[in-house]
Amino acid sequence: MTSAEAGRETVELLQRLIRVDTTNPPGNETAAAELLRAYLEAAGVECALYARVPERANLVARIRGRGDGPSLALLSHTDVVLADPAEWTHDPFAGELVEGEVWGRGALDMKGEVAASAVALATLAREGWRGSGDLIFVAAADEEVGDGFGLEWLVEEHPDAVRSDFSVNEGAGDRVELGGGVYYVCATAEKMSSPFVLRVHGRSGHASMPSIADNALVKAVPFVERLGAFAAEPRVIPEVSAFFETVLGEVPDAADALAVARGISPLAAELVEPLLAMTVSPTKAHASDKRNVIPAVCEITVDVRLLPDQTPAEAEAALRECLGPGAYELELIEGRGGTRSPIGGRLWDAIEEFVAAEEPGARPVPACVAGFTDSHWVRDAFGTVAYGFFPARLDPQLAARLIHSADERVPVSDLELGVRFLRHVATTVCA
Ligand SMILES: [Zn+2]
Repeated sequence: MTSAEAGRETVELLQRLIRVDTTNPPGNETAAAELLRAYLEAAGVECALYARVPERANLVARIRGRGDGPSLALLSHTDVVLADPAEWTHDPFAGELVEGEVWGRGALDMKGEVAASAVALATLAREGWRGSGDLIFVAAADEEVGDGFGLEWLVEEHPDAVRSDFSVNEGAGDRVELGGGVYYVCATAEKMSSPFVLRVHGRSGHASMPSIADNALVKAVPFVERLGAFAAEPRVIPEVSAFFETVLGEVPDAADALAVARGISPLAAELVEPLLAMTVSPTKAHASDKRNVIPAVCEITVDVRLLPDQTPAEAEAALRECLGPGAYELELIEGRGGTRSPIGGRLWDAIEEFVAAEEPGARPVPACVAGFTDSHWVRDAFGTVAYGFFPARLDPQLAARLIHSADERVPVSDLELGVRFLRHVATTVCA
């Protein structure tokens, strides 16, 4: 099968997937899982659906290996975020092919990769390919909301179905030009989301007589200002070190790292800046519900992102130091994510080889992503070497504007590139 033929098959499957509305909530991912099962079983691929509730099924497909080599899972999710057709140039659920691009909700995040993964398995199965270890394809539900119907649940309830030595997922793969070189970004780690609530107490009273009350909102202001000015000491984590090593051949001191990245390009600075330290952003405030009542309590929600090796306890200590003494409570809401995989080894080599073959001189560059992906669950549960990598030549700044937004679309050429990559990585890692 030629790359163009695999690309055409991916386009058709993606169009059908976009037409299945899996907006989460409510999700209804079973319809997408059944469509994928029918497609894969027709190619002779073994499939199973796993569902916590009938309408939210996860699909797991597998080409069994001989059992003497590493296994690889192609991870993905079938749910999408809301789309308002009024904002779109083309119907978000029609899957139209317009001038070399497939339009629709999920085209980039991430039904395009779902379709490419399914086509990689189906074409390999039709060719009679079999690896040393299992090649697994997981099309999970509920990644966008994360209410416990998707990969988090599979890892808990059906670990044998989704355990693998290596995995590839969404998260990166963008082609970037930095300092005259061409790189494809590979996400090897994630920051941890560790939000806090700051609670400041006062005494309520009628708003017409402020002197008899003790206004918690007013008392919260200096604390909010201190949080807004928070700046942690920068550090160079292994992903940033490898980034500079790859692009510059040397690693700057932590204090100079941002300036050096700016010297490479604004894009390099954008990639590096969130990874130099934990970040703190007060984002929500709640005090009185009534205009004429002085609030007794003011609650400030603080978004906090930690480096992969930092803990919520470290964050709490840093926040308390920033806030200084005073009458407040600080409470951790939830800690999520914050895992990493080593840079290098069999999967890394397969990616490096692919990138160099596609574009002579191009190299993968590691990155730690500031957001959360499902890769976290398999790193955490099984120690899987999990990378976010689906190669794309679409301008990453345009992609960032389209994901979760109007007019989401994917170039057919990137779908072709994606299937070529997934077939390469499957046959190389599970060789
Ligand atoms: Zn996604």
